[in-house]
Amino acid sequence: MFNLILFGPPGSGKGTQSERLIARYGFKHLSTGDILRSEIKNGTALGLEAKSLMDQGQLVPDAVVIGMIRTALKENPGVNGFLFDGFPRTNAQAEALDLLLGEYNTSIQVVLALQVSKTELIKRLLNRGLTSGRTDDVNESVIGSRIEEYERKTAAVADYYKKFNKVAYIPGEGSVDEIFKKLTEEIEGRI
Ligand code: ADP
Repeated sequence: MFNLILFGPPGSGKGTQSERLIARYGFKHLSTGDILRSEIKNGTALGLEAKSLMDQGQLVPDAVVIGMIRTALKENPGVNGFLFDGFPRTNAQAEALDLLLGEYNTSIQVVLALQVSKTELIKRLLNRGLTSGRTDDVNESVIGSRIEEYERKTAAVADYYKKFNKVAYIPGEGSVDEIFKKLTEEIEGRI
């Protein structure tokens, strides 16, 4: 199995690049944001719990998202690899992921970290808010909170994987094709 984390702040292009990576390599895409939005749409208890936090730009509790990933791993036996998108977002989530993957005798091969400036992130998210239907993309103060949560809690996740030499930094500004090419080069150097 080849498992990777696509890492980066909100608006760094993880969703866009995930789609392309999946089309090329056949990874199973696990996006905690997508799973949470589908729980909200289906009106589940978990969705209800998550919605108010997401609307304020705050993280959902670790136990909730770790449980979602545990279920997703169980439901997808035999895949050739997982692409984690928007997870892990805290060091506790990263530690839990290592343990979970260990149960399947596998691990994370690489963390591809997209780097985008803050002004560009805000511009992209506001622009996405015009069409995405995502309530957390419309309001600049919610966008600000999401970026702050990233800086306070999530950025350190890259340091966690750096200890194991698993992080590759990729410039996330430029054309979608250029960025995709750099991502594939990193993957192919490690596959
Ligand atoms: P983005 O990367 O654009 O912020 P996501 O779809 O990844 O969008 O996440 C949207 C929201 O869902 C986050 O702001 C957060 O509230 C919640 N969320 C998603 N993944 C996690 C996670 N791993 N841990 C905690 N909260 C999460």
